[in-house]
Amino acid sequence: MRLLVAGSLHLDIVVRAPHLPALDETVAGTGVDYVFGGKGGNQAVAAARMGADAAFLGRAGSDAFGTILRATLADSGVDTTLLQEDDGASGMSTAIVDDNGDYGAVIVSAANLRIDTSRVRIPDGTSLVLLQNEIPEAVNLAVASHARSIGARLWLNAAPARPLSSALLSLVDMLIVNRVEAAAYGALPNSVTCLTTLGSDGVRYDGRHSPGYAVDVVSTHGAGDMFVGALAAEVVRGEELDTAIGFAQAAAALHVSSSLEERARLAPERVFEFME
Ligand code: ADP
Repeated sequence: MRLLVAGSLHLDIVVRAPHLPALDETVAGTGVDYVFGGKGGNQAVAAARMGADAAFLGRAGSDAFGTILRATLADSGVDTTLLQEDDGASGMSTAIVDDNGDYGAVIVSAANLRIDTSRVRIPDGTSLVLLQNEIPEAVNLAVASHARSIGARLWLNAAPARPLSSALLSLVDMLIVNRVEAAAYGALPNSVTCLTTLGSDGVRYDGRHSPGYAVDVVSTHGAGDMFVGALAAEVVRGEELDTAIGFAQAAAALHVSSSLEERARLAPERVFEFME
């Protein structure tokens, strides 16, 4: 069974500086990181690391960032056959982080806004399709209707919050949101199944609360993407959702309590070991 993730790709440039620049000020920075990102790309990579046979549908530019984005997906074992190449810029962001951890950032969606819906396909054997809210609604709708036509399950990680059309909601089997998004959406139609992640408090699903694992946090950045990717990986392996929630919470707990180097080495075996 296979997973298809359709969504965004960003190359995030994270600059460290003693303080954020004031208007017209130039500040000498102390370091820079180039970080693979975009919720779609992150979830595809997380799912592949957690053992899923995962493909990605999206669009990257012909610039150097596009080369890095494509290579990161491929190196993580994600099938990039449906990754479209754009003549222009890749999605990117630039963030300035100061010594207190305060930051300012700009995101440019670029190629992510130009995904060609006429080239939307669902690979053979796909049992689950995963969407987020960082690509145009029209693309999500096109992917969702293809998913429905082949009988694949469809999850929407409705992040960041933006208006949800009833057309899309009617095709979705499960909505996944965090606390901030849940508050932004308010009451959802009764027909929609929703899983809410609650940070260190765990998950609420189907009227039940599943507590998270207590760990020492290094950084919570990307917890949601690891949770969603790991959840999808377990479900395409054939596990029930309840079991998959336990696995995904363990994977996300390991993610938030690991250094960057340790994160890159996280594998399903390590998650199962942690759960014992
Ligand atoms: P997002 O990153 O989208 O804001 P959450 O903060 O809700 O999402 O985190 C997603 C999941 O990651 C949680 O449901 C939980 O399983 C896990 N998680 C997040 N923060 C922690 C933490 N501090 N300790 C343990 N698990 C965490």
